[in-house]
Amino acid sequence: MRVVITGGAGFVGSHLCERLLGAGHQVVCLDNLISGRAENLAALSRQPGFHFEQVDVSDRCDAAGPVDAVLHFASPASPVDYLRHPVATLRVGSRGTENALELARRKQARFLLASTSEVYGDPEVSPQPESYWGRVNPIGPRSVYDEAKRFAEAITFAYRRSQAVDTRVVRIFNTYGPRMRPNDGRVVSNFIVQALTGEDLTVYGDGSQTRSLCYVSDLVSGVLGVLGLAPEIPEAAGPINLGNPVEMTVETIARLVLELTGGSSHIVRRPLPEDDPKRRRPDIRRAQRLLGWTPQVPAHEGLERTIAFFRAELATPTPTAVRPSAAAPATAESRA
Ligand code: UDP
Repeated sequence: MRVVITGGAGFVGSHLCERLLGAGHQVVCLDNLISGRAENLAALSRQPGFHFEQVDVSDRCDAAGPVDAVLHFASPASPVDYLRHPVATLRVGSRGTENALELARRKQARFLLASTSEVYGDPEVSPQPESYWGRVNPIGPRSVYDEAKRFAEAITFAYRRSQAVDTRVVRIFNTYGPRMRPNDGRVVSNFIVQALTGEDLTVYGDGSQTRSLCYVSDLVSGVLGVLGLAPEIPEAAGPINLGNPVEMTVETIARLVLELTGGSSHIVRRPLPEDDPKRRRPDIRRAQRLLGWTPQVPAHEGLERTIAFFRAELATPTPTAVRPSAAAPATAESRA
């Protein structure tokens, strides 16, 4: 296959590029490097089947020659990133998705949208099945990401219905692993970097909110499984949840990171960001049924690998390898 990946220099996107190249496919990576990093592609750029173009797909999404699949992963995705780039986040979810769909239509390629558990907002049901419509605050700080992805799903289904594009939608739950940026503000990267640098671990709120953490290699297997589903399968059109159903409180994640790093940091409380979802746990029965897919990497193992990555990253600082901000992205208090 010849695959276009938007956002291919990002955390998840770069792992996808790597896996596809390893399987003998050709990859065209489009990224404006707003939150992606050229370093993520350093090892790939020497491979003959790989092509990188620095471009904002909200302006232009194109590739010369035949294309078999378009994977739309471009977007700031951590709360700190999308709050820093609110309009760019809305643009890449709307205009960027339309441009990527147009490319798929022109090339008669399959299209896969990286959607998110954030379409469920702060959910009233747990675990969250794909049939749940969600509870999103349309004007809250997180809406720039949540509503952009909801729009992205809507336009993907519109192209499927009206333009006969063969589409897939995956809803990705919290994912972690090597190549997260130390300063992306996410819970796993923040806690690990804080523990490794001897700083206090910043638990927002009382730490009772939950997340379900999926190791990146498991996620990539799920994404490629969905991409490969035969179009005749009625449920292949998605959306399909991809995530690890093992749910943990944020407090538990902090304690686990402390235990695995062997650090002597303390846990401190910081205000809970506005509209922070209280629970998040994927119902993955659809993916299990269609793909026979279940995450394989347990939290302690995935965290060990991620800790090893950050140890190396902190030992050889890059311009982005700075300490995380201890402040929550946008808190109810700070906005009041
Ligand atoms: N969180 C935290 N301390 C941090 C970073 C995040 O307690 O230093 C919490 C955050 O409030 C949320 C959860 O961890 O409840 C996951 O946050 P993250 O930014 O990773 O992503 P989200 O799931 O909210 O999109």
